[in-house]
Amino acid sequence: MFKQIKFLKSVFDLNQLPPPELPEIAFLGRSNAGKSSLINAFLNRKNIARVSSTPGFTKSLNFFRIDNKFFLVDLPGYGFAKVPLKLKQKWKYLVEGYLKSIRDFRLLILIFDIRKTPDKLDQSLIKFVNHCRKTYCIVLNKIDTLSKNEIKKQTQIYKKIFSIPENFPLFLISCKTKEGIEPLRKFILDKITD
Ligand code: GDP
Repeated sequence: MFKQIKFLKSVFDLNQLPPPELPEIAFLGRSNAGKSSLINAFLNRKNIARVSSTPGFTKSLNFFRIDNKFFLVDLPGYGFAKVPLKLKQKWKYLVEGYLKSIRDFRLLILIFDIRKTPDKLDQSLIKFVNHCRKTYCIVLNKIDTLSKNEIKKQTQIYKKIFSIPENFPLFLISCKTKEGIEPLRKFILDKITD
């Protein structure tokens, strides 16, 4: 397990990105999908990333240095209901700019609420990450809220809408029960040590 989890900095503009001196993984998700919960579950800590009961808007990329081995980047969520255009543009500038920048980038972890059917916004995000050629995986969270059959059905919907190929790394998890967290953690760690 991780020994030293150090908050490094919040980045509000692309010229503030820390030097790419370590391998890097990033978490991105629709607001309320459980991104903060997943970061906490992955790190096996309670309060590293702030879990919100009401969706708030973070507009910074938050960098953590883990055991001096890798950077964990908490990217701001998207898809908030009432966000002014200016902030949406800022999100796009920051997140897309970050994903396009040259770093020792190993994995983008995209997290969704399995109960929510992906919409246009989710699809354009997938399109963008495919275009960036970043290595990514898809995580469907909150499986504790559905029956086995519903999980199967929703997974098929995601695969179809995102045109996910066979053998693509897709993880079904619950941050609440921790089901599925271990295989995901192993997958992430393999990317870091590659
Ligand atoms: P974020 O906005 O993506 O960072 O999402 P949070 O981690 O703040 O979680 C949003 C809400 O979903 C919180 O109320 C969490 O307690 C809840 N949540 C997160 N993961 C799960 C899960 O696996 N199952 C259930 N039932 N609720 C979850």
